[in-house]
Amino acid sequence: MSRITNHLPTAELQALDAAHHMHPFTAGAQLAEKGARVITRAKGIFLTDSEGHEILDAMAGLWCVNIGYGREEMAEVAAAQVRELSYYNTFFQTTHVPAIALAAKMAELAPGDLNHVFFAGSGSEANDTNIRLVRQYWARKGQPERRVILSRWNGYHGSSMGSGSLGGMKPIHAQGGMPIPDIHHIGQPDWWSEGGEMSPEDFGLMRARALEAKIKEIGPGRVAAFIGEPVQGAGGVIIPPASYWPEIQRICDDYGILLIADEVITGFGRTGQWFGSEAMGIRPHIMTVAKGLSSGYAPIGGSIICDEVADVIAGDEFNHGYTYSGHPLAAALALENLRILEEERVVEHVRNTANPYLAVKWAQLTDHPMVGEAKLCGLMGSIALTPDKSRRAAFAAGEGKVGYLTRERCFANNLVMRHVGDRMIIAPPLVITTDEIDLLIARAWTSLDEAMAKAKAEGLW
Ligand code: PMP
Repeated sequence: MSRITNHLPTAELQALDAAHHMHPFTAGAQLAEKGARVITRAKGIFLTDSEGHEILDAMAGLWCVNIGYGREEMAEVAAAQVRELSYYNTFFQTTHVPAIALAAKMAELAPGDLNHVFFAGSGSEANDTNIRLVRQYWARKGQPERRVILSRWNGYHGSSMGSGSLGGMKPIHAQGGMPIPDIHHIGQPDWWSEGGEMSPEDFGLMRARALEAKIKEIGPGRVAAFIGEPVQGAGGVIIPPASYWPEIQRICDDYGILLIADEVITGFGRTGQWFGSEAMGIRPHIMTVAKGLSSGYAPIGGSIICDEVADVIAGDEFNHGYTYSGHPLAAALALENLRILEEERVVEHVRNTANPYLAVKWAQLTDHPMVGEAKLCGLMGSIALTPDKSRRAAFAAGEGKVGYLTRERCFANNLVMRHVGDRMIIAPPLVITTDEIDLLIARAWTSLDEAMAKAKAEGLW
């Protein structure tokens, strides 16, 4: 076989891809027919594909490339770390400097007494760790019957058997016999789709109180923890009404159950605070992190754990861990990423510049006839597509068709926006400039216009 490089023609790369590469969350046969888009390089917030298009990546990869692509400092750190210590594990009473330094830095950045880090290779793995952690915590506290973990329908916590069960995505549950036992779900705080005639604040309270009802139904003595994303990401950037999280916090406090904030997307600046928990005013016992921890330069995730839980767990051997827990290359890259975020004051840039600038333009998208609501928290945003704003109506064609079509028009206009059903979502790199925000918005308008015309022409309206 000839060497496979960027220089091969796109069709040849696509054929090889279709023959050998199974893609996540993709219908393989459909993709093979169409041919995958081949990304060849990236710099800042722009991707380049094999046809030479320059694409504005308003999703930061998969919500992860917070500092932008292709940073020279990261390349230097990677090379130096490979030369110094390319791998060693953290099992069997061993450690290494990148893991020590990164854990200490994460403890410094995390709020409250979240002072202890258990490393994983991804968000899914970290949430699997959390299932083990909270059950072991209660077992060691003499309450082994506290095994149930509560979460939300349409939440996303990963794709392994454990984390996929914590998530509330029915298509994931349907393939592979999930959820695993002792995981139960309550409704999500998505006012646009499910709030009916209620005010957002009343609806938020009602959805939070579903947690209390569920705890009573299952029996408070059986519930170990509640897990939620401060702002749901993969579910469609669902920013909860302000009434929601304070009530969840009250209920967790009243029933003494552990609160896990899944900060895989919201961590490391996405909301304009270092962590989404700070933006939402909650005090979790455990935070799940990944993605923005390394800005996607290396696969790494982890659980940041409070003193009380860590102390209890430390009393016995925790029979859990991954070959790549605290991988030195990933840890060194994460540490450099955190240095860049801090020294370039990227979180302040989100809070004081990028969010306020984007907020005005994002809200103006509701002037478009197809856009119902526009929501933004820091630099994660969503718009709801609708044929009739006054009724928050769904499209006659069925959910997701117009969203898909809009995403395709975005691609054609060199803009990566994702669709979740008929919501369009963005989470651009945190270093995005105001000029780049203007370009994002201009491409979004063009794409919305084209999508609306196409939806009408195809009878999807
Ligand atoms: N939790 C949340 C909130 C996520 O958004 C994701 C990934 N989108 C995960 C967990 C899973 O992370 P990973 O894909 O790294 O396993």
